[in-house]
Amino acid sequence: MDKVCAVFGGSRGIGRAVAQLMARKGYRLAIIARNLEGAKATAGDLGGDHLAFSCDVAKEHDVQNTFEEMEKHLGRVNFLVNAAGINRDSLLVRTKTEDMVSQLHTNLLGSMLTCKAAMRTMIQQQGGSIVNVGSIVGLKGNSGQSVYSASKGGLVGFSRALAKEVARKKIRVNVVAPGFVHTDMTKDLKEEHLKKNIPLGRFGETIEVAHAVVFLLESPYITGHVLVVDGGLQLIL
Ligand code: NDP
Repeated sequence: MDKVCAVFGGSRGIGRAVAQLMARKGYRLAIIARNLEGAKATAGDLGGDHLAFSCDVAKEHDVQNTFEEMEKHLGRVNFLVNAAGINRDSLLVRTKTEDMVSQLHTNLLGSMLTCKAAMRTMIQQQGGSIVNVGSIVGLKGNSGQSVYSASKGGLVGFSRALAKEVARKKIRVNVVAPGFVHTDMTKDLKEEHLKKNIPLGRFGETIEVAHAVVFLLESPYITGHVLVVDGGLQLIL
């Protein structure tokens, strides 16, 4: 069977590093983001027979169409990575409702929709592997990130419940929970100050998270697991 993987949020950051690693390992990839040009650029850089799709994970219709198109052009999707995510950091009292909704819709509802869309094929073929990218703040909470933390904490509950639901179908669902990683999402943070609190003394690199994602994708006896990749941050939070 072809190893076909859909990487939502694959155009930049952690998702892009996952796609690069998986391309080297011989997977056929769908690179998915809202910005089609960004997704195409990443798919093109990978070399080989990879495709790009535009999709907003928060929109059910978009997600369903994207799965139909992926299956038409790439075949059955048996691996799924949910790395699409946004943050709108602010204290709760200053957070606009629309920013609450957009974070919950992209980070939590989005992964629910892609997992649901992937289920039909994975159940039919009696197998599949999913990794959802959470965050250490989904486990520990962080001031100024209450809504983002809720979206990522929700993702853990969702993933563990789904892992139970589909284990008999030989479908596995796991979570990688990164700490601070060098990407567009963290480029405006005060790194010099923040890294003093990280036991390993630095932000992570996207490839370091990608290795954890691919490890879980390919580990046939691990499901419902949350793998923290945070330079030891959880030890002090
Ligand atoms: P980036 O901002 O670098 O990349 C985000 C990716 O998600 C892009 O490909 C973006 O493409 C895509 N995306 C965003 N919104 C949507 C949407 N509605 N539909 C489809 N695609 C979307 O983020 P990171 O790589 O840093 O983050 C990846 C994941 O890791 C996120 O879930 C994030 O919450 C999580 N994370 C990141 C940490 C970090 O320190 N960087 C720490 C902990 C967790 P486009 O804009 O074109 O849609």
